[in-house]
Formats: sequence, structure tokens, C-alpha cells
Amino acid sequence: MGDAAKEMYELQKVDLTWAKVRQRLLEIQKLLGETEQLRQVRARVSETESELQSWRGKQKDAEFESRSLAERIQSADEQLMGGTIHNPKELEALQANVDSMRRHRAQLEDSAVEAMLLADGLDAQLDELRQSLEKLEKEWASGQTDLRVQETKMKQNYVLLKRKREALAADMSPDTLNRYEQMRRRRGGVAVARVVNGDCEACHVQMPTGVISALQSNRDELVVCTSCGRYLFQA
Ligand SMILES: [Zn+2]
Repeated sequence: MGDAAKEMYELQKVDLTWAKVRQRLLEIQKLLGETEQLRQVRARVSETESELQSWRGKQKDAEFESRSLAERIQSADEQLMGGTIHNPKELEALQANVDSMRRHRAQLEDSAVEAMLLADGLDAQLDELRQSLEKLEKEWASGQTDLRVQETKMKQNYVLLKRKREALAADMSPDTLNRYEQMRRRRGGVAVARVVNGDCEACHVQMPTGVISALQSNRDELVVCTSCGRYLFQA
């Protein structure tokens, strides 16, 4: 007869490590892929780009309209000075038209300047956003490489532990294996606990001397903790 508690304890070590590796693999797989921050900054870059384009368009439209108005003002001025119109009412109307065009042109110049200031501000913002996007993308890419390396390592560990588990389980009697599996399901994955300085390592309760002597005298019988009910293993 082998030491059933020792066998269980060795198997449990592998199982606990295996569970940690599986957990880490799931975490890594969650981290692989684009981050929320990266998506947000990228969206802000494209929003700012289209806003900038819209204000540059408004600026150009106002400048264009202002220039064509300037030409019309010039030709009207030439008519006024040219001496070809003698009718005072006609002259007065033409003068009023020129005045109105000048006022309109002043408004257009104002809007053009306003649009230009806004667009310049957006330009500067866009520069900053693009820089932070570039930085984030670089960090993200290098993080992804690290994660891929870790993922590969964890997958290899996972397979190794699986094989080790199978080998250990194959060496155990079906009865011991069965008792181990049932106990670990009932006790949160921990079926066996070492006794350290007379305490159960899982629940930290001091074991009665009867339990300790049972452990030391008979290594083939399974002894359970009087507090948490787990199998005990005397290292
Ligand atoms: Zn215990």
C-alpha cells in the first residue's frame, strides 16, 4: 500500500498550479486585442479631423465670397468715379449699394477670421491627439508582443501540467483518486492539507493529539481534519 495522502497531496499541487495557469491564460486572452482607451483616442482624432475640415471649409467660403464682393465693389466704385452716370437718384442708389456691399464684406471678413482661429485651434489639438495616439499604439503593440509570448508559454505549461496530472492519476488507486476528486469538489479545490506544527494548514486549527498519533502510526489509513474535514498529510 502506498501513502494515499501523499499521492493526493502531489496531485493537488499539480492541480492547483494547473488552475492558476488556466486562470492566467484566460486573463491574457482578455488582454489581447484593442483597448478601450485606444479606440477612444482614435475616435477623437477622426472627430477632430472632420470638425477641422468643416471650419476650414467655412473659412474658404467666406474668403472666396469676400474676394468676389471686393471685385463687385471695385467695379461699382469705378462706375461712380467714371462720370458716366449723371442721374443723382441713380448715383445715390449705386452709392447705397456699394455701402451695403462693404458692410457685408466686413461681416464676411469677420467670419473668415473667426473660422480660421477655430480651425487653427483644432489643428493644434489634432497634433496633440495624433501624438498621443501614436504613443498609445506603440505601447499597445509592444504589450501585445509580450502577451503573445506569455500566452505561448502558458499554453506549453498547460499541456505539461495536463500530462503530469494524467501520469500521477494513473499511478493512484481508483478509490484514492475518487475520494480525492469528491473531496476537492466539496472543499473548494483543496482536498488535502499538510499538518504543520500540529495545525491543519488549510484551516489553521490545532489538531488533537489523537489525530497526530493516528497520522504517525498508520500511513495507509486516511485521516481527516477534525475542523475542516479535509484529508491530512504528515510531511
Ligand atoms: Zn482543517
